[in-house]
This record gives sequence, C-alpha cells and structure tokens, in this order.
Amino acid sequence: MFVITGPSGVGKGTLIRRLLERIPELELSVSVTTRRPRAGETDGVDYHFLSDPEFDHRVEAGDFVEHASYSGRRYGTLRSELEQRTRSGVPVVLEIEIQGARQVAEAMPEAVRIFIAPPSEAALRSRLEGRATDAPDQVEARLATARRELEAQAEFPHVVVNDDLDDAVDALSEIVRTATLER
Ligand code: 5GP
Repeated sequence: MFVITGPSGVGKGTLIRRLLERIPELELSVSVTTRRPRAGETDGVDYHFLSDPEFDHRVEAGDFVEHASYSGRRYGTLRSELEQRTRSGVPVVLEIEIQGARQVAEAMPEAVRIFIAPPSEAALRSRLEGRATDAPDQVEARLATARRELEAQAEFPHVVVNDDLDDAVDALSEIVRTATLER
C-alpha cells in the first residue's frame, strides 16, 4: 500500500494520474468526503460524496481506516477500498492529507509513505490561485494549512519535490517499483 500525501495544490492529483499510467497494476482508493463535488467530478469515481450525518454514521460503524477534517470538510478512507485489493495482492494508492497519513502510519506501518513537496511556497500559492476552483478565502485557508503541512515532511521516509513534472513522476515511479520488488 502506498500513501501519497503533501499540501493541497502541490500537484498530487496530476502526479498520481501519471503514476497510474506508468504502473497500471496500481489502483487508486476512492475516498469519502463531505465537500461538494467540483465541476467535472463524478460521485463514486473522484470521491464518494456523503452528507455529514452519513459520514458520522460510517465513522460509528468503523468503516474508515483513517479520517480527518480538512478546510472545514471531512475526508476518509474506507476499509472496503483496501481490504479486497490487499488480500488479492493488488497494490493500492491512497491520496490523503497529513493527519490521515499519520493515522495510516500507526495502523499500517508497512504502508510506504511518500510526501510530495512544492519547490517553494510561492509555487504552491500560484497553483492554488490558478486552480480557480476554490473561492479566495478557501485559497487562503488552504495556504495556511499548507504551511503547517510543509513542516511535516520530515516525518516521511520518502520526499518527492514536484518541480519538473516528468522528473517527479520518475522519482515516484522508482519508489513504487523498488517497494513492489522488495515485497
Ligand atoms: P480536495 O478537496 O482538494 O479534493 O482534497 C483536500 C485534501 O484532502 C487533499 O490534501 C487530499 O489529499 C485530502 N484527501 C482526499 N481524500 C482523503 C482521505 O480519504 N483521507 C484524508 N485524510 N485526506 C484525504
């Protein structure tokens, strides 16, 4: 299992899409969130979009491997997304924020944890602003969170700096291939 984390706007999504093209046997876990779908997002594909009460219900049922609040919304990884795949030996990728990545480190120490870092804080700001899917106050909130998240990178055994996209995909693929061969 691979846990890929890093601040919002660092380009995790793009990097992971490219990683999955490169290593097609990898499968991405579809998370649950209480935020609204953005334009172009599909329920069950990008996320399972749930209401707050539905999310609470799944927490109480013990359905999550990890869950966390982020920018006022909740996000979580369903046990059901992982169990079937790990049993049949299919490598799974989780794209999650840092509190969740810490919970996975506790619960599943065998998971390979990778932190995606921006080349600079300015680069992160321009990506978040350029995305234009979030309102300006959301951008500021995400940047404040991102600054705290950057401090967490020392906790992660692997760090990939997303400066040049191709180089970053190369580095990420190398980590995944090496870990897969070692198992
Ligand atoms: P976004 O709203 O931009 O899709 O995601 C916001 C943050 O939540 C991102 O850092 C993303 O990686 C993280 N995230 C997505 N799914 C999960 C999840 O299942 N668990 C946790 N802890 N974070 C998640």
